[in-house]
Amino acid sequence: MKGGGKLSASLWEELGFVDRLGLLFHFPRRYEDRTKWQDPFLAEIGSPITLRGEIGETKFSRWRGGRICFEASLIPEGAIDSVRLYWFNMPYLKTYLTTGKEIVVHGKIQSYKQGLKLTHPEFEMIKPGENDFIHLDRITPIYPLSGKVKQRPLRTEMHKLLFDDELKLPEIHPVPDDLVDLSSALRNIHFPENDQALRQARRRLAFDELFCMQTVLTRRRRLVTSMTKQRPERTDSFVKRYLDSLPFEPTEAQQRAFRDIEENLDKSYPMNRLLQGDVGSGKTLVAAYALLLNAERGLDGALMAPTETLAEQHFQNLRVLEEITGIEVILWTASCKPSAPGQGLRPRIYVGTHALFQEGVDLGDLGLGVVDEQHKFGVLQRQNFLKKGNHPDLLVMTATPIPRTLCLTLYGDLDISVLNELPQGRKPIKTVIRKRKDLHKVWDYIRKTMKDGHQAYIIYPLLEESEQSALRSVKEAFAELKAEFGENEVTILHGKMKSDEKSKNMELFKSGQRRVLVATSVIEVGVDVPQATLIVIEHAERFGMAQLHQLRGRVGRSIEQSYCVLVSDVKSDESKERLEVLEQTTDGFVIAEEDFRLRGPGDVVGVQQSGLPRLRLAQVSQDMELLSIARREAEILLDEDPHLKNHPELRKRLSHFGMELGPEVAN
Ligand code: ADP
Ligand code: MG
Repeated sequence: MKGGGKLSASLWEELGFVDRLGLLFHFPRRYEDRTKWQDPFLAEIGSPITLRGEIGETKFSRWRGGRICFEASLIPEGAIDSVRLYWFNMPYLKTYLTTGKEIVVHGKIQSYKQGLKLTHPEFEMIKPGENDFIHLDRITPIYPLSGKVKQRPLRTEMHKLLFDDELKLPEIHPVPDDLVDLSSALRNIHFPENDQALRQARRRLAFDELFCMQTVLTRRRRLVTSMTKQRPERTDSFVKRYLDSLPFEPTEAQQRAFRDIEENLDKSYPMNRLLQGDVGSGKTLVAAYALLLNAERGLDGALMAPTETLAEQHFQNLRVLEEITGIEVILWTASCKPSAPGQGLRPRIYVGTHALFQEGVDLGDLGLGVVDEQHKFGVLQRQNFLKKGNHPDLLVMTATPIPRTLCLTLYGDLDISVLNELPQGRKPIKTVIRKRKDLHKVWDYIRKTMKDGHQAYIIYPLLEESEQSALRSVKEAFAELKAEFGENEVTILHGKMKSDEKSKNMELFKSGQRRVLVATSVIEVGVDVPQATLIVIEHAERFGMAQLHQLRGRVGRSIEQSYCVLVSDVKSDESKERLEVLEQTTDGFVIAEEDFRLRGPGDVVGVQQSGLPRLRLAQVSQDMELLSIARREAEILLDEDPHLKNHPELRKRLSHFGMELGPEVAN
C-alpha cells in the first residue's frame, strides 16, 4: 500500500482490512467541530462539548473506595476561567498531560461547587504546527479504535488515502441520480466540508450499504427457492382431527397463517417463513398446525424453544397429539434425551431446546423445523438446523414487534405472516404503577386474586452485574411471601435451579396446586398458564420496555380480566416515562416505537437476529425509500448475474461493509 509504513501494518492487523479501500469504509463514529471553540461557561450543563486549551497544574487525588484520580486544570481557548478534568485509575496520563501541553478534550460539561468539570473526557494531544489542517480547524472525524491504533495516525492515514492521490473509484452498481458520487461521498464522510456535504455523503454510502445488504438477502432467498425438496404425498388428516378437538376456533389471523404455510409446504422448494405475533396471539397453534401438516406426509418435525421450561410446556401441550393422531411426541433437551431416537414407523415430533439442532443429532426424516421465540437464537443455530434432513421447511416465530419496513430490511430472505389479532374475548390487561411502600396493598390484591380462584406471578429482576444479589433477592422474597400467603401457596422459579426442580415447580403452578409463582425473568418468554390473571413486577425500572411487555404477556391469556402491577420507586423522568407507556398501552408495536423514540436509534429491535452485520450508516427510520430502490436494483443485478461472477468488485464491496455473499450453489 502506498505511503503505508508502520502504521498501516498495524492497522491491517488490528482492524483486519483486506485492501486499501477497506480502510476507507472504516467510518467515523462521530465528529467534532473544531472550527470554532465553544465557551464552556455558556454551554448547557450536561451537553457534550469540545474544548481546546493548555493544561495548567496537575495532581493526583485519592477518592472514596481508594480510587486514584488524575486531575488537571484546563484553560480553554475563548473562555474566561479554567475547567477541571478528572480521570480515574489512569495514573499513566501524568506522563502525557503535563503543564503547558495543548490538548483537545471532548466530554459532557458538568458543574461542581467550584466551577465546571469534565470527567473522563476523551482527549487528543496537539503537536504544534503538525498537520493542523487535518486535525484542527475543521469538522474532525473521530474513529472507533481498537487495539493499539491511535486517533491521530489513523486520521492522517485516511487523509493521505483520500486526498494525496487521485481517488479513482469506479461506480460498481447503479445509484439513484440524486446521490453524490462515491469519491466525494468518501471524502466527505471522513473530512466533511460542511454539514450538508456530510449529510449527502452519509446518504450516498447508506445506499451502498443497503444495496449490499439487499444483494446478500435477495441471493439467500433465491438460493432457497432454487433448492428442490422431496416430499411424499399427504396421506392423513391429522390437522382436521386436531382442530376439531380444540375448544375454540382459530382466529382469522391464525387461519391466514395456516394458508400461507400450506401453500409453502406444497411448493417444490423449502419454506422460509417468519411468523410474527404479539404475546398471546396464539403462535403455538400455528406451530402445531405446521407440524401436523408436515406429519401428514409421514415426515418428522421439530420444535425448538429457547428454554427448557418452554420446551417442556410445548411438549405437554403437543402430547395430546399422540392420542388424537398417533404421532409420537419426543422431548429432547440437555437434561432429557430420548434413549432411542429415530426408531419406529410413526411420524415423530421432536420438541426441545437448541440441544435438538446441534450437529450430530439425528432428527430422522426431518421435513419441518419450527423455531419458537427465534429472537433468542442466533442465525447459526438456524443454519445448523437447515443442514438436517432433506431441505427441511422452516418456520420461525417471534413476538418481537418489528415494523413491516424494518422486517423487509432485516428479513429480506424470509416470507412473513403476521398474527395481528388476539383470540376473541380477551380483555386488555390493566396496568398500574405502584410505589414499594404500597406493596402491602398489592399483597392484599394477590389474596383477592387467589380467593377468586386465579393465580399470580411475582417477578424479580435478574441483574447482569450481580446475579448473586438478585438471586438472593428472589430467594429472600420467596421466604417472605410464603410467610405472607402460606407455605403451600407459593413456589419459585429461577435460572440457577436444576431442571427437574424447575419443571416440578412449574407443574405445581400450572396445575394450580401453588397459586403464586415467584420468579426471575426466566419466565419472560412463552410461559402459558391461562388461569394466571395477575403479574407483579418488582423493580420494574430495571427491565427494558420490550421485556416488560413480554413479562406482562404471561397474563391476559383467558377471557378473565388480567392485571399487571409495576412496582417501582423511579425518580428519573425517562424511566418514569417508559413505565407510563406500558401503563397506557398493551400494543406491542406502540411500545416498540416508543422504546425506539426514548432510547434513540442504536440497537433497533431485532437487528442482531437477521444474521447480518449491524448497519453502520443506513437508518431504518429515514432511509426507507433508499431501501426499496436498493432492493429493486439488487433483484435486477442478480437476474443478470446470479452468483456475481462478473462483479468481483461488488463482492469486495460487500466485504467492506462486513458482509459475505455465502455459498456458491444450492443443494
Ligand atoms: P403466544 O403467541 O404468546 O405464543 P400462545 O400460543 O401461548 O401465545 O397462546 C396463548 C393462549 O391462547 C394459549 O392458552 C392458547 O391455548 C390460547 N389460544 C390460542 N389460539 C386461540 C384461539 N383461536 N382462541 C382462543 N384461545 C386461543
Ligand atoms: Mg409462545
